[in-house]
Amino acid sequence: MKPRVIYFIITKQCLLKCKHCHFNSSPDLEDFFPLVLIKKYLRKLKRVKSIEKIIFTGGEPFLIFPKLRNAVHDAHMLGFDVAVWTSGYFIGTKMDFSQAVRYLVDIGLNEIIISVDSLHNNTRLEPLIDDLEVESEHLGVKLTISRKHESEASRPPDFAYGGTHDPSGVILYRGRAATELNEKQQLWAPENFDICPHQDLVNPDYLWLDSKGNLLICPQIPLVNLRQVKISSFFANFDPAKHKILAPIVEGGPFELAKNNNFKLKDGYVDHCHLCSEITEKIIKKIRK
Ligand code: SF4
Repeated sequence: MKPRVIYFIITKQCLLKCKHCHFNSSPDLEDFFPLVLIKKYLRKLKRVKSIEKIIFTGGEPFLIFPKLRNAVHDAHMLGFDVAVWTSGYFIGTKMDFSQAVRYLVDIGLNEIIISVDSLHNNTRLEPLIDDLEVESEHLGVKLTISRKHESEASRPPDFAYGGTHDPSGVILYRGRAATELNEKQQLWAPENFDICPHQDLVNPDYLWLDSKGNLLICPQIPLVNLRQVKISSFFANFDPAKHKILAPIVEGGPFELAKNNNFKLKDGYVDHCHLCSEITEKIIKKIRK
């Protein structure tokens, strides 16, 4: 496995409680990545040659700005390309943006990603985007705007092949979206979900790391706990065929995972992730018992 990007979920706490959130973030969720562990894992990950980029995300990383600042500095000093992903809740004017982001650019931030859409309830930022682009250029930081589209009807399953790592795009029905956004959606027979169209499960380009040290290949699927393995040998020897959840998904998608676990299927699901999340949640609960 040669991942290029690691997302550090430095807090799951957020001012918002978006219906599509993969990590079920909310104001009440108290989950913070200790700075000492961020520093430790950054150093361990540095030993993996393929990893070039660190994205600090959440939850809302700007809620813990002092820690975020230290983490950005540390990642930069280790030679990573560094990005931060935010809902931009602190931006009321272009000056709010430039004054906050300047502190991070000064210590090595290369990119800021802002989610702007109705799901994040912040379309108020739309008229500001041109100004934010000018400010970003002035500061010397790349600005990426992520827009999720809350579609009226889910797309037919075979239309899901639009590339993997697109920060914008359609909602994937995993995490909170699997339970809170599926009501009006069209459902498709489970046999359609015979591949994972969103993540390369054999050689993923990106992974997530949570505050407990869990490395995730998808927000639903833990790969390993970094406290329990030597990171470089884990990446070098990774074999999805030995992973209880990944092996069947690689073989035949979430539908194969269902068959493999004798999962009682419903008549229909919104998308691949909807079926996948319902099964993985049950398997993980069982493993943890
Ligand atoms: S939830 Fe399943 S189908 Fe969706 S991206 Fe993750 S592994 Fe793929």
